[in-house]
Amino acid sequence: MNLILLFPDDMVTDARARITGRRLRHVLEVHRAGVGDELVVGLLGGRIGTGRVERVDDALLEMEVSFDRDPPAGLPLTVVLALPRPKVLRRVLHSLSVMGVKRIVLVNAARVEKSYWQTPFLLPEAIGRQLVLGLEQSRDTSLPEVLLKPRFKPFVEDELPGMIKGSLPLVAHPGGAATCPRDVRGPVTLAIGPEGGFVSYEIEKLVSLGFTPVSLGERVLNVETAIPALIGRLMS
Ligand code: SAM
Repeated sequence: MNLILLFPDDMVTDARARITGRRLRHVLEVHRAGVGDELVVGLLGGRIGTGRVERVDDALLEMEVSFDRDPPAGLPLTVVLALPRPKVLRRVLHSLSVMGVKRIVLVNAARVEKSYWQTPFLLPEAIGRQLVLGLEQSRDTSLPEVLLKPRFKPFVEDELPGMIKGSLPLVAHPGGAATCPRDVRGPVTLAIGPEGGFVSYEIEKLVSLGFTPVSLGERVLNVETAIPALIGRLMS
């Protein structure tokens, strides 16, 4: 936890905050902070700054806070991701949040197991938990938006055309004829397939909207490896 993310309920006044529970335990066990120590804090959706510990015990930490700088800018990137299996989903949400992706669309695809849509990891609290952990890791305060699209065809036909307007639409595909571009200076919409890959119909549908299939080379990466490799290359 490189930043203590503060929520409106933590604020006693504009300049004083109290934390309990998981964040308190982390501060006690990892930061080992005591009275007078300074912590990096950020207000959810707002600026980041410093918290000076004024009181701390096993139940509560109170600090004086001031916010003086903006969080890092988000990436101009929308990730459209075929829903991965639940354990991978958790880790991927966390790492997308760490990397600064601010819009994540989880979409169905032919090779997504139907049961994946029933996982408790898709409940709003479970998604929020991973996103918050990602913000705490990367010293950010702005929560990504996560959209669930359990029907591929209506999403692609009715919503995706509007979503990709003004962006470069790419679909990561190991068989893609084009090499994934580097350092794109502008908004990108990046579609990433399921573990079994997108089927031809899905690739054709995306291509008909203007998506270019792009490859990172002949080595087929798993989703968790492909995502940071793609983002690092596109957004360096
Ligand atoms: N057998 C599947 C195929 O050939 O499409 C493999 C799918 S891969 C495990 C899961 C997703 O990660 C792919 O659909 C793609 O979006 C992305 N990916 C993996 N390796 C890639 C590569 N070398 N180039 C581009 N995208 C890749």
